[in-house]
Amino acid sequence: MPITEDIRGLVSLASRILGQADQGDFIWGHASARDSDGRGVWIKQSGLGLAEVTPDRVHLVSPEGEVLAGEGPRHLEFPIHTEIMLARPDVGGVVHAHSPHAVALAAAGVELRPVSHAATYFVPPSVPRFTETTDLIITPELGRSVAKTLGDGSAVFLVNHGLVTVGPDLQTATFAALLLETAAEQMLRTIAYRGEPVWTNDDEALIKREHIYNDAAVHTAWDYLVRQLP
Ligand SMILES: [Zn+2]
Repeated sequence: MPITEDIRGLVSLASRILGQADQGDFIWGHASARDSDGRGVWIKQSGLGLAEVTPDRVHLVSPEGEVLAGEGPRHLEFPIHTEIMLARPDVGGVVHAHSPHAVALAAAGVELRPVSHAATYFVPPSVPRFTETTDLIITPELGRSVAKTLGDGSAVFLVNHGLVTVGPDLQTATFAALLLETAAEQMLRTIAYRGEPVWTNDDEALIKREHIYNDAAVHTAWDYLVRQLP
């Protein structure tokens, strides 16, 4: 199979997994994989829900926003993906979604704590919050600003908008997006009990990150998610 077919298939799977996990916001949100020839990112065309993304609906977008291969209208927020890829050579996959609990947690100004396993994937450090705008990230300048707020981390909250997760490959970035939403939901449930919340300390969180969310485990979880697709 040609490599472009492989990468289109990967972006399709990631998009469908996100859609299946209710990370989709109607036709908004997208996942991308780095082009192996350095031309830009492979990402779904706009106008579709995440769950609808088939390989032929994935196209290659340059950092200038040009569709270099494939068809269909381009998403306005491509600079989130292209500018993070430019700033972070270690990143092979980026997810941007309007995940409901993550949006609510960030809007509430509540700090994400590792009240369950999920948040130990991210915390420590504190998940950064992008607050320069709550509007769409549609210019390279804003994309660079999001990348700067992300720093060398694996996630950033776009306050009043959504989340961005990254990974060495798209499989990891996708799993991270599901984990961040799960962590935000568990935070809400914890607070809702109105008790005296406790959470994993930083040292143990780092140990748990390696025990639970090591690279092999994340990819095994990805395989499971692929098998669950309809
Ligand atoms: Zn968005």
